[in-house]
Amino acid sequence: MKLIDGTKISNDKRAEIKEKVALLKQQTGKVPGLATILVGKDPASQIYIKSKIIACKNAGIKSFHHNLNDNASQENIIALIKELNENPNVDGILLQLPLPNNKNAYDCINAISPSKDVDGLHPFNAGLLTLSKNWDEIIKKNILISCTPLGVIHLLQKSNVTIEGKTAIIIGRSNLVGKPLSMLLLANNATVIMAHSKTKNLKELCKAADIIIVAVGKQKFLNKEFIKKGVVVIDVGINRTTEGLCGDVDFDAVKDMEVEITPVPGGVGPMTITMLLSNTLKAFNNQR
Ligand code: NAP
Repeated sequence: MKLIDGTKISNDKRAEIKEKVALLKQQTGKVPGLATILVGKDPASQIYIKSKIIACKNAGIKSFHHNLNDNASQENIIALIKELNENPNVDGILLQLPLPNNKNAYDCINAISPSKDVDGLHPFNAGLLTLSKNWDEIIKKNILISCTPLGVIHLLQKSNVTIEGKTAIIIGRSNLVGKPLSMLLLANNATVIMAHSKTKNLKELCKAADIIIVAVGKQKFLNKEFIKKGVVVIDVGINRTTEGLCGDVDFDAVKDMEVEITPVPGGVGPMTITMLLSNTLKAFNNQR
């Protein structure tokens, strides 16, 4: 087994972002600003937000955090978003999901100005990604793309994994991970299979793939039976167990196989925050 070291790839990218931010400060006297919004007190979300704020600080990006009460109404959230849309010091707005008490995340995300949508979830940015012909066009247009899928592509590219012409299967079709990732892999000329809970013959489909990306949220979901020799496995899953964090791959079962794989923790997770920093810098530049 060969590990794809997400921590190292992420650290390299963060160092590059930090340098660019420092240069911007020198040249313009300004640095990018990221506003984070947390509604309620979900412990996992609090940890994610804290990591994002620390990462901003380390990169020289200004962060503005807003914590709303559990019982804040959708109108309250949208009013705050509109205020941040108008704030010239805020280049990116991140609404931490999921929202508590069945609030409609879609309407809130829709209220974020597309130019500040650093999570790439606004229909305008999701649409631009879907309509892009290829990777070059995505880069040229500086589209804001969902951080986790973008991080996965960065991991593959930096690990010298060939995407073009390969068969890639994505297990999970969420708007946050699976769907945007399918567009990014297509743009990189992979043949993409989208799998989900109603997919038949998942094991056979995985065995035919060169790249498997699993984003299901079930520990030990992907085991030896899904994997052929030489495959690249990207484990997006984050599952909390009594022994700590683990992904969707039965890591112990596959570790003796001839595969390339991302660990959890230390794989996709750090890349997601790194891409948030990258998107904030992109949003700053796009708006100027
Ligand atoms: P989600 O919205 O719950 O989607 C899960 C997907 O898995 C759905 O498409 C579902 O299919 C599919 N699925 C469930 N059971 C399945 C089965 N038995 N066979 C095949 N597919 C099945 O989750 P998400 O937001 O995409 O997140 C997925 C995982 O990634 C979670 O563990 C999450 O914590 C993690 N995550 C990690 C990062 C990171 O930075 N590392 C970022 C985001 C998410 P249906 O659509 O048919 O229901």
